[in-house]
Amino acid sequence: MHEKEVKSILSAQNGMNIYRGCTHGCIYCDARSTCYQIQHDFEDIEVKSNAVELLEKALRSKRKKCMIGTGAMSDPYLPIENKLQLTRQCLELIDEYGFGLAIQTKSDLILRDLDLLRSINKKSKCVVQMTLTTYDEELCKILEPNVCTTKRRAEVLNIMKEEGISTVCWMTPILPFINDTEENIRGILDYCIKAKVYGILFFHIGVTLRDGDRQYFYQKLEEHFPGMKEKYRKTYGNDYEIFSPNNKNLADLVRRECRKQRIVCGTKQLFDYMHLYEDKQAGVQLSLFDL
Ligand code: SF4
Repeated sequence: MHEKEVKSILSAQNGMNIYRGCTHGCIYCDARSTCYQIQHDFEDIEVKSNAVELLEKALRSKRKKCMIGTGAMSDPYLPIENKLQLTRQCLELIDEYGFGLAIQTKSDLILRDLDLLRSINKKSKCVVQMTLTTYDEELCKILEPNVCTTKRRAEVLNIMKEEGISTVCWMTPILPFINDTEENIRGILDYCIKAKVYGILFFHIGVTLRDGDRQYFYQKLEEHFPGMKEKYRKTYGNDYEIFSPNNKNLADLVRRECRKQRIVCGTKQLFDYMHLYEDKQAGVQLSLFDL
């Protein structure tokens, strides 16, 4: 890891990434794409050393409370967070200043901060988002090798349910010819139904690949799935959006089950929900985003 002082921490939509790069090792990682211009090794995590200080300044100067998002580009619960506790300190500020939180991770390290999630959720709204792509535990260890597997992530979702904390499952990406099966989708859906998730986010049954991300993905396909790289090349060429041949059937299945179980799966609806600040103490819902 290496440290860097940055100029700002919150994006225009109030999202933040405390770390840059990731060590979870997902073979399909979009954050590796060259368009993001990461200048260091992806596993050599850049730590925004003044993140906490900048966040406090930003929260103090906001005229209105809003949801703060984190986890879009780098997991806030990387193993180094165990020691550095920067995510924890940022959560403490969000709690102290009465803001809401929409946090995304694949790691059960989030349970360390349950006290803060609970407290934020009491005053405002806390939404925990977990990515579940692969029901088969052995396959999951290949696709997402350095983080807890789907079964454990589903346990985290269940713990959040017990705590009354709202959850959203990111059911993406699903890899063509690897885990784009009804069995896999039904397995993930079962976890979501048991955990009473608020929503399931998916864009299509497939994956996106672009420069940087594609090379790493193909290298891992060669290591773990002989012949698969050629199959992808022949089927998809250099396409950015890679659709499973089962896209329609599987997407219909997810939508049907969500309707039956009253799980929200509309992308816009879910993003709106995660941006909608709630002031539970005042019993009032405030505006979308921090307009
Ligand atoms: S957790 Fe996200 S950022 Fe990290 S390797 Fe996996 S896909 Fe990439």
